[in-house]
Amino acid sequence: MVELPDREYYLSNSEHMQNLRKQYQAHVAAMLKLAGFSDSDARAQRIIELEHAIAEKHWSLAEDQDVHKANNPWKQSEFTVKAPGLEWKEFFRAAGLDKQVNFIVWQPSAIAGESALIASSPIETWKDLLSYHLIEQYGGTLPKAFADERFEFFGKTLFGTPQQTPRWQRAVNNVNFALGDEVGKAYAQRYFPPEAKAQVQTMVANIIAAFHKRIDALNWMTAATRAEAQAKLDALYVGIGYPETWEDYSGLEIKPDDIFGNLWRRNVFEYHRWVNRLGKTVDRHEWCMTPQTVNAVNLPLQNALNFPAAILAPPFFDPGAPYPYNYGAIGSIIGHEVSHTFDSEGSAFDAKGALRNWWTQADLDHFDGSTAKLVTQYDSYHPFPDLSLNGKQTLAENIADLGGLAAAYDAYRTALPSKPVPDQDGFTPDQQFFLGYGQSRRGKSRPAALRQQVMTDPHSPSEYRTDMVRNIDAWYQAFGVQLGEQLYLAPSDRVTIW
Ligand SMILES: [Zn+2]
Repeated sequence: MVELPDREYYLSNSEHMQNLRKQYQAHVAAMLKLAGFSDSDARAQRIIELEHAIAEKHWSLAEDQDVHKANNPWKQSEFTVKAPGLEWKEFFRAAGLDKQVNFIVWQPSAIAGESALIASSPIETWKDLLSYHLIEQYGGTLPKAFADERFEFFGKTLFGTPQQTPRWQRAVNNVNFALGDEVGKAYAQRYFPPEAKAQVQTMVANIIAAFHKRIDALNWMTAATRAEAQAKLDALYVGIGYPETWEDYSGLEIKPDDIFGNLWRRNVFEYHRWVNRLGKTVDRHEWCMTPQTVNAVNLPLQNALNFPAAILAPPFFDPGAPYPYNYGAIGSIIGHEVSHTFDSEGSAFDAKGALRNWWTQADLDHFDGSTAKLVTQYDSYHPFPDLSLNGKQTLAENIADLGGLAAAYDAYRTALPSKPVPDQDGFTPDQQFFLGYGQSRRGKSRPAALRQQVMTDPHSPSEYRTDMVRNIDAWYQAFGVQLGEQLYLAPSDRVTIW
């Protein structure tokens, strides 16, 4: 569904949010009107009221990231008792899930709450809500008036984007979305040669070795927890560039003159692909990102990492750049993803990707103590006078940034050849490392987009991610950073977790 970005947008009483909600309602009415619905203003109002009621049942983003809280196994037969309202039997049948016995219910109060709303709200309002979201979801491929109206609200008002992406680019995005692996095959072939892959593989091996050493050196950690952590690292699958097997689209019908139908069939195709996986063995080598995606990911349930080819390119990785730069740039990102293995969420999963507590209580207490310091550090950043970062919401990503940067630095130092590395443009190798870190994280956001990021994104905005250097001792030696300077932190306030 395409709706407001987070429940706070529905529940917050700030003037800014109240104003946004008014504009959202006007947008819903406009979309319904374009689609030929009568009485669109009144319908829009009822839709917004229902969405507000749904939002009230949802957890906050920080709560939503607590995998222990989310680990609620329900049998199919329990839904009618635990979440009365919806006709669950019919729901599971229609969803192709009638044979599935076990479910994990991430937010039980949301499921129970929404199910109760189904019983208590008029069916006509639900039909309107679902119709609106269907129109919105496909708005980009409906006639121009729909796409323009959709951009007016979701692009301009909500995100602060002044101009819509050109039509041809939106078309490319659609192909990318519908046939990602097919595009990815061509992309990887053209832009990711085997030599680049080999170079990245060496960096990955060095960074994982650095993590092994860091874990061995943690004096607070008991032998039992340490052994589990090392085993998890040993079992980690690291995918570099592109997957070993590609998705087979032969069952998907694509017609040259039917964009709506193509996307519709693609969504049905993808849904069935997911449902068909139920009960089958987990393929830990399966990718969840396409090679042309500029991103990287840690998949805790597979104990696996994906580094798509598109992030293994400048400014993140340049086969011709001095290697301290590459370690600071892509190296810290590789370290970031490895570090997710042991962040506040990742540490809850074991080497096989099962949710299992492998920590002794004393180790867990120490870990929680050091992460609390990082929460406080990030709570203290204020991108807006009325809005600060949420240290808890961004904790897992901040732990990963911190651990990743530290391990990448170690790995780069170990990789130093015996002969001295020359300065580059007047910068020492250590300075090049930190410049690589900073330059690869450059970013620029409009105020509306930044505000949305602060409220909804588990990642801190780029500027504050770069500020992570304040926790690294080598940073102070590299640039002679002194007390009183913006990027200075007293040694006792610096956080080390891994
Ligand atoms: Zn991350």
